[in-house]
Amino acid sequence: MTAKELAEEIIGGRRLKKGEDLSFFLEWDLEDLCQGADAIRKAMIGDRVDLCSIINGKSGKCPEDCKYCAQSAHHATNCEVYDFLPKETILEACKMHANAGVDRFAIVTAGKVLDAESFEKAIAVYEEMHRDCHIDLCASMGFLSREQLHRLHEAGVSSYHHNIETSERNFPNICTTHTYAQKLETLRMVKEEGMWACSGGIIGMGETWEDRVDMALSLQEIGVDSIPINVLMPIPGTPLAHLEAITEDEILRTIAMFRYCNPQAHIRLAAGRALMQQDGKKAFQAGASATITGNMLTTVNCANVESDKNMLEKMGRR
Ligand code: SF4
Repeated sequence: MTAKELAEEIIGGRRLKKGEDLSFFLEWDLEDLCQGADAIRKAMIGDRVDLCSIINGKSGKCPEDCKYCAQSAHHATNCEVYDFLPKETILEACKMHANAGVDRFAIVTAGKVLDAESFEKAIAVYEEMHRDCHIDLCASMGFLSREQLHRLHEAGVSSYHHNIETSERNFPNICTTHTYAQKLETLRMVKEEGMWACSGGIIGMGETWEDRVDMALSLQEIGVDSIPINVLMPIPGTPLAHLEAITEDEILRTIAMFRYCNPQAHIRLAAGRALMQQDGKKAFQAGASATITGNMLTTVNCANVESDKNMLEKMGRR
């Protein structure tokens, strides 16, 4: 079978499953693989690119020990530390991104779960953004309860972000203070609440190729709607600081594989675009249909809303 033939089968309804021999992902010519992924993207998602922006609503001093993360209190990094941002700061950022034509805006907070006082502040600011800003609202606040997810939904939040990060096998190598099963449970509650589930992870943390395929197929089983793919940017002071960045070809092969495994989900470029040439242009020809953008990110410092819109329009994308 060729990449083109598999792409046609997937467009026709075939879905790849765990347990199948998927070794062809590593064997096929990269350009053929990417062309097939691009054909699936075009048929299943179309030419419109979903743009999202985030604000780090509460930063640092996190009790969890995620090895890649600058915000963990277990690691000695230079990350900023602050409590839940003032409402005005968040509103201003939301309006700026809405006016720039960004599709969705999220408050992201450090910590296993957002504390009760900060959660009430978040609800108040989401209600205001929902009323005043023409933009879809997302949230990423850790392991919320079913009731908290429902309150966010009622406040106008349509999508909840909660990365599974890697495969189930590799997860304990990355984090020991919470489990993969807890993450799956949160995503199940998000789906049951009727919100969009946004979940992906980080590549380049020392995982195997099989871990990446397993992660892609786990996300398909959950039925996630959006899959952010981050490429590790090793941060001094974290346990993964010594890892070498993976190559652009490896990033593109991974993004294409995620598209074959998740034909109906948005494949969203996240941190690590700076590791690719031309702000990750080739990734949009390898199955990606969405990206984090904006001027407020610490790890996606290569692109902004304007440069992304220009690049995508020149590529014939909307
Ligand atoms: S839970 Fe979130 S903020 Fe805390 S260490 Fe893990 S990734 Fe970082």
